[in-house]
Amino acid sequence: MGALVMKSLQNASLDATDIVDNLLTVGIVVVDRRFTVIMWNRFMELNSNLRAEDILGKNLFDVFPELNRNWLEKKIRSCLVLRSASFSSWQQRPYLFRFKASNMLSLETDHMYQDAAIFPVRDAAGLVEGACIAIHDVTELAEAKRLLDLSLDQALDLEESNRRDALTGLFNRKFFDEQISQEVVTARRHNRPLALAMIDIDHFKTINDTYGHVAGDRVLRALATLLNNMLRGSDYLCRYGGEEFGLILPQISPEHAGILLERLRKAVENADTLLDDGVTVVKLTISVGVMPLREGVAPGTMVRMADELLYASKQAGRNCVSLYKPEVAPVPTESR
Ligand code: GH3
Ligand code: MG
Ligand code: MG
Repeated sequence: MGALVMKSLQNASLDATDIVDNLLTVGIVVVDRRFTVIMWNRFMELNSNLRAEDILGKNLFDVFPELNRNWLEKKIRSCLVLRSASFSSWQQRPYLFRFKASNMLSLETDHMYQDAAIFPVRDAAGLVEGACIAIHDVTELAEAKRLLDLSLDQALDLEESNRRDALTGLFNRKFFDEQISQEVVTARRHNRPLALAMIDIDHFKTINDTYGHVAGDRVLRALATLLNNMLRGSDYLCRYGGEEFGLILPQISPEHAGILLERLRKAVENADTLLDDGVTVVKLTISVGVMPLREGVAPGTMVRMADELLYASKQAGRNCVSLYKPEVAPVPTESR
């Protein structure tokens, strides 16, 4: 090991150099102040295909130009100056030395993931004269983590696709039913307002009959985008079925819910939806029913009442918004 002695070995009565040299599970590299390699153990030999005699006495960065020199030099210098150890995790830096991963493992990666520790090495007089780089092969751990992250991502993707409508990308009916129940509970617990709107396209059948079903699908997607772009992140626009949408609006007063839905209705009325041919413009309108959260009204009833208000809009000639008026239609008394 040249003039340097690793501190832990210094006072040992047995010479442990051979043990370190022959270590197969940890890579040990010792360099002096000029980055000359003075120790290169068996692990390093096996993984680099460089025998100790081929590298000892040489500058580490000359032999391994692919090493991240800026970073490693800084680490080694600070180790020498501060006389303290530092660590590098595979999660920040996948590896120090680009070694091939063991082919005993069936892995996705072809390189070895490494944790590294860099600590000072003292000479016989106790002066810090070099640095030891200890390399741990953590490929199996990294691979296990990668697989875990992957299955977590897949589970999240699956959950997300389970609550989305395939055509429009909006939340689906199942999500709507669950979410409205949850929002009612939350609103009641925190004494916050909540509103629900049901939206239905007027004479959508005519659009299908005139332009075809594919064009109808395009119109549905365009409407979903138009409405979504006018909503807050905390609102839930859901495809309730066919050409009917359910909109959950947390923390909104009845008055503001009415203003918002009127704004949406106008935007739809004024929008031009271009069909795939790039020429044909389709105009459409929507009818809306808006029901605010009322004391004693269960989520299912809230949906039904919003739907009834939507029906009232249809009856009134379509392209309009009907708001719940407590003085006209008192809510049914319920057990919750
Ligand atoms: P109203 O103003 O009374 O709501 O009239 P409408 O024509 O919109 O209502 P109706 O319920 O008679 O027709 C709805 C149409 O929506 C019929 C159905 O074919 C169409 N539809 C439902 N889902 C889809 C879909 O995913 N894609 C397309 N293109 N059309 C759909
Ligand atoms: Mg309709
Ligand atoms: Mg309908």
